[in-house]
Amino acid sequence: MTGKRLILMGPPGGGKGTQAKVLEDAYGIVQLSTGDMLRAAVAAGTDLGKQAKTIMDAGNLVSDEIVIGMISERLDEADCANGFILDGFPRTVAQAEGLDLMLKDKGIVLDSVVEIRVPDQKLVDRITGRFTCSKCGEGYHDTFKLPKTADTCDACGNTEFTRRADDNAETVKSRLKTYHEQTSPLLPFYESRGLLAVVDGDQEMGAVTIEIKRVLDS
Ligand code: AMP
Repeated sequence: MTGKRLILMGPPGGGKGTQAKVLEDAYGIVQLSTGDMLRAAVAAGTDLGKQAKTIMDAGNLVSDEIVIGMISERLDEADCANGFILDGFPRTVAQAEGLDLMLKDKGIVLDSVVEIRVPDQKLVDRITGRFTCSKCGEGYHDTFKLPKTADTCDACGNTEFTRRADDNAETVKSRLKTYHEQTSPLLPFYESRGLLAVVDGDQEMGAVTIEIKRVLDS
């Protein structure tokens, strides 16, 4: 049940981050999210963060070179040895090719590419309502998952929450367009190698997890 190396693909708001967190615990592997890494750089106010912020706020993609470098360095860290989940990377054909090269170079073989499929019309509502606990990162939603006690995190009791700057209706449209134009061409790329498994992401979170685990355990 351990040692999985996978890519989680799917549109913004499709549940990649949520599922990645569950899989981390279930398989003892780490989530590598380029979006989280970039948001950390924005929060820290680094040069990279300053450059990335404008691009992210517009719903566009930061340069392939930057994210390929980030993932390559991160994969060398000890906690990736038992397995990892790539969340939000690769997002372009150039990134997929860069990933191929680096994996070959590091002697790593991918087990699976899982696409979480959700129809576009569901995604806008899913994204614009979401917020997270600023302390433990537990995810919530204005319609689908409010904290059990108002304004208090179920997981850690914290009372402060954050919303992503790019989770507004306008940026979501451009993120979706970017996904269809630049990222979805990767699906046939991985399908042709026999690596792709499609999971129905338009169902409740636990059911999606069960489907993903079925793929990984098969
Ligand atoms: P995410 O958290 O995966 O939705 O990513 C948020 C934003 O970070 C995206 O809309 C992009 O602007 C940027 N980003 C994250 N991952 C990548 C990537 N692999 N390539 C380019 N830009 C990325």
